[in-house]
Amino acid sequence: MKNLKSTLDRIDNKGYGAYKDLQGTYEFGDFTLYVDKVQRDPFAPPSLIRVRTHDNGFDRALYENLVRRFAFEDFLTRQAEQEIKRAVQGNRGSGKSGRVEIQRPSQVIVPRTSCVVDESGVEARMAVGLPAKGRTVDGRAAREVLLDELPEIVHSALIHQGIDTEKALEHVQTVEDAEHLRGRLAELGLVAFVVDGAILPRESGASDRPMKSGAKPFATPEEYRVEVNLPNRGAVTGMGIPEGVTLIVGGGFHGKSTLLSALSWGVYDHLPGDGRELVVTREDAVKIRAEDGRSVAGVDISGSIGGLPGGGSTEDFSTTNASGSTSQAANIAEALEVGTSLFLVDEDTSATNFMIRDERMRELIQREPISPFIDVVAPLHRDLGVSTIVVVGGVGDYLDVADHVILLEDYAATDATGRAGEVTEEFPPRAPIGGAGISNPRDRSLEPGSIDLRRGKKETSRGKGLSTVELGRESVDLTYLEQLAEGGQTEAIARIIGEFAKSKNGQSAREVAEEALADVEKNGLDSLGPFKGHPGEMSQPRPQEVAAAINRIRSLKATTV
Ligand code: ADP
Ligand code: MG
Repeated sequence: MKNLKSTLDRIDNKGYGAYKDLQGTYEFGDFTLYVDKVQRDPFAPPSLIRVRTHDNGFDRALYENLVRRFAFEDFLTRQAEQEIKRAVQGNRGSGKSGRVEIQRPSQVIVPRTSCVVDESGVEARMAVGLPAKGRTVDGRAAREVLLDELPEIVHSALIHQGIDTEKALEHVQTVEDAEHLRGRLAELGLVAFVVDGAILPRESGASDRPMKSGAKPFATPEEYRVEVNLPNRGAVTGMGIPEGVTLIVGGGFHGKSTLLSALSWGVYDHLPGDGRELVVTREDAVKIRAEDGRSVAGVDISGSIGGLPGGGSTEDFSTTNASGSTSQAANIAEALEVGTSLFLVDEDTSATNFMIRDERMRELIQREPISPFIDVVAPLHRDLGVSTIVVVGGVGDYLDVADHVILLEDYAATDATGRAGEVTEEFPPRAPIGGAGISNPRDRSLEPGSIDLRRGKKETSRGKGLSTVELGRESVDLTYLEQLAEGGQTEAIARIIGEFAKSKNGQSAREVAEEALADVEKNGLDSLGPFKGHPGEMSQPRPQEVAAAINRIRSLKATTV
């Protein structure tokens, strides 16, 4: 600490580059400060620091197993974020002067690099804008940030005297219950569960937080009632959605998309107060949507699209500009490649000719290569064991292929399976529903050499916000990956792709994703980091999003095997 003071005194008023001398390790008594990487100027990305406390006085119940530990690390990250808001003055000069940051968590709880708890203490990874007046070192302001504000954050957010143990316990128990529930879905024959009383609607289209007032809590229709015993909360009841094909129907604005979206986020755990703590879905569920304009590299989409005009095969299909329906077919084939047990489809974000072809068009158009999803959805379950939950308001033909129908009216769910049966008898199907089987798409081998990381003299693979991965000069657009939760996942994905690009051997997207994530499981997310010390801001992605990002690289080349 004395060293830090004297260095700051010495470099005060010097050119900003003098801050480089801060790099190093400082002892603060009850924690150690590591200054890992000093920014070049006040406007550059802030300097990277870590703080490590010297003992772990926390209740062992908060971190005694991996699930609890990750949840507790999430709790501490959020706690630190709050303390930063409270204790840090912030703006102290030019550029990012005086800012203190920790990775910003979304509404979901995933393992992150922001905070690590072990037997010997807690390590938090942060960033600090070292203060400057213009482009000269402001030593006094730096002393206030590093010697006053930083210890305050450590004392009130990262050591056991500072935190509310009850609240932390609720946090880890909530996550443990959700994990338990998700883990039991398969044995219960379910693909999803929505607890009674869940709050599904969100604050706005731009915010994933719960609606503030006027939300109607979820109530389970009798026919779908399931009771599950959870390790912490005990018995809970809710709607169990069984395997098979389930329709969510209802008029416009009655809450269909809101329910489906909550289900699509049910692959993750949520923090207490989110409203969706016990809304869980199979962990490998994939939301499928149209995404016209995306590129596709050598994917076997023959399951939903037959021969192309001119005799082109769809077992090895590439395009730089997919249409709505082909993009949706590619999304399905790619999700099957990486592995999934549940598709979620919303008609709002689907291509009409992907969803359906009516009687007249079946009559008029004989040479239609696209098998609409309505022909594919039942075989997907029968032949491949993949269930689907599909939102429809306008296409009654889906009643013919549904095992279950859930009706939403004024946000209230009822079972309409029986009534749907009556309706289909009254109005029998006019168009034949395709009866053909479906098989898994053929495997592809991706060529690492087709991904060019060069950007000037450097090689780069990094995340930029939530929706972009920068690989060399290419920006990969992830806007339509609706189950990508936070920028830290994008960063982790970028680094996984970077490693693959430098490898020599072709692999399937599934292999790339699974091998990288197996490594992460063994060595932690830190192992994706580029240098010793601060690993950067990363969050754990799912294999589904890793593969989906790779599949959207425009330069990607692949061969079907
Ligand atoms: P649909 O897909 O059936 O057209 P949406 O899911 O888009 O309907 O919902 C329409 C509106 O109703 C949205 O603004 C949503 O936030 C709101 N909403 C959905 N579910 C609820 C609920 N349970 N309580 C209150 N408002 C809700
Ligand atoms: Mg909708």
